Amino acid sequence: MDMSAQQPIVIFTAPSGAGKTSIVRYLLERVPQLCFSISAATRQARKGEVNGKDYYFMPMSEFQHYIQENAFAEWEMVYEGKYYGTLRRELERIWTAGKVPVLDIDVKGAIHVQQQYPQHTFSVFVKPPSVAELRNRLESRGSETPESLETRLSKAEYELSFQDHFTTIVVNQSLSQACAEALVKVTAFLHAFYPQI
Ligand code: 5GP
Repeated sequence: MDMSAQQPIVIFTAPSGAGKTSIVRYLLERVPQLCFSISAATRQARKGEVNGKDYYFMPMSEFQHYIQENAFAEWEMVYEGKYYGTLRRELERIWTAGKVPVLDIDVKGAIHVQQQYPQHTFSVFVKPPSVAELRNRLESRGSETPESLETRLSKAEYELSFQDHFTTIVVNQSLSQACAEALVKVTAFLHAFYPQI
């Protein structure tokens, strides 16, 4: 049975460094109706990451098999040679549990999910206050080489050009305000599905 047409989805997307993951964590702690959608990924697990919790880590051969089976709602090569995707069965697992999946995915992937599930998808584009501020944040993380910093910034500028494709925009000037604003917006969306919220 295709249950997807009527089912709600919440997506958070952003250029990297805009703070979307912190906002997603904040919402997951406060809204019991939400459930994190665990993506498939071909990159190595980082220290502290758990398979089946942070990602379904898998070799490229397995990922390709799922592509051929049309098992993904969307997938992207987010970084050179590194593939990420949302499995349809992950969305179905969450819907079957009576919850709403929250996707933390890149901009192109978010547009693809919206196109496939246009009726009940609530998508939030998290925007850094400015590209200059994004540069400061990425620099202060200290994880970038000068080249990778420039690559990320030019990717961010490209991704910013898609901001009007989403249901709403949250500017992350202050993280606590951005979290509060996202909570109000997502709760209002969920109200149609859970009137008690
Ligand atoms: P990281 O490797 O730092 O965990 O994630 C890198 C990027 O991949 C992040 O922007 C994250 O949102 C994005 N991402 C994670 N899962 C998915 C997915 O299933 N599909 C797409 N398109 N992007 C994803």
